[in-house]
Amino acid sequence: MIISPNSIAQLEELINQAHKICLVTHSNPDADTVGSALAFQNILNQIGKEVIVVNPNNIPDFLHWMPQLDQILIHDIEGKKVQSAVLQADLIFAMDFNAPHRAGNIEQSMLNSKAKKVLIDHHLFPDESYFDLMFSFPQKSSTSELLFDILRLSNYKSHINKVVATHIFVGLMTDTGSFAYSCNDAETFESAAELIRYGVQVKETHDLIYNNYSVERLRMLGYCIGEKLKVFPESHAAYISLTSEELMQYGDSEGLTEGVVNYALSIKGICFAALLTEKKDKIKMSFRSKGDYSVNAFAREHFEGGGHLNAAGGKSYLSLSETEIKLEKLIHSLSIVCD
Ligand code: 5GP
Ligand code: MN
Repeated sequence: MIISPNSIAQLEELINQAHKICLVTHSNPDADTVGSALAFQNILNQIGKEVIVVNPNNIPDFLHWMPQLDQILIHDIEGKKVQSAVLQADLIFAMDFNAPHRAGNIEQSMLNSKAKKVLIDHHLFPDESYFDLMFSFPQKSSTSELLFDILRLSNYKSHINKVVATHIFVGLMTDTGSFAYSCNDAETFESAAELIRYGVQVKETHDLIYNNYSVERLRMLGYCIGEKLKVFPESHAAYISLTSEELMQYGDSEGLTEGVVNYALSIKGICFAALLTEKKDKIKMSFRSKGDYSVNAFAREHFEGGGHLNAAGGKSYLSLSETEIKLEKLIHSLSIVCD
């Protein structure tokens, strides 16, 4: 992957000129968006910049241990503060998302802002018209790994420390499902090795993310697999749906259903999986695939979404049962082959 020296110079110039910097994460923040934003905040603080990380909504419970997390401003909790942070910034970064609408309730402030805008992201099809400078690399495992590349090519390299490396490692590890997907090249593993040299504790970090669930989460997973999994073997597809009542039964905490869709995809012969969760105003949908089938294209075409080739999300404003009917019709008409 080639990041041009010219774009690094432009980035440094924008940062030099900026007094107030805002790092924005995407809605339903995951570990990659949060990890990359916190790592970058740490670096920018070290060079004396005033930096605020803003999140549209709550951070999943399994990330609550992350250093610096208490400094993040969450729009759902402190909307006015987030809006003024975005509007007062003279430099804004979109971390791990490709268009202002992906920042949910922060979108309007982003659109109203007069700041320079920089994208650091690995999703397909960035909104080129919005950004002044883009680091858009869809082939990268994670935005966190991309940020690590950028930092190492820049004058900020000497500021990388154990905390920064841990934030980056968390984003990289989770976006690849613990080095299983989106990392089929040596570069990602070389980055991981380098992060370990900065002091990342692999087992400890892994345990904090993957062996730190609530009992409710495990019982919810059992319920999903035992009672809610629908499998369509001829169509190579499977999905799970959860009503808001079912989510409430298990506490409906932030990030409760993170990773559940992968269990549907883990079945032999299944190459398309979906998870539908009933939210206040919409049905949230997660899609995963194996092989060449693009859930990014599927989500864009049918459910107002997008993402990556093998991992994407979308939404539906139909009822949950109507959304299931629409999804099942599509499943029957798709010609998914497991290659
Ligand atoms: P998840 O299923 O984990 O929520 O999302 C999977 C991937 O799809 C992530 O990379 C996420 O950023 C992206 N994604 C999720 N929901 C949406 C959506 O509504 N629109 C777009 N464009 N991308 C989404
Ligand atoms: Mn990501």
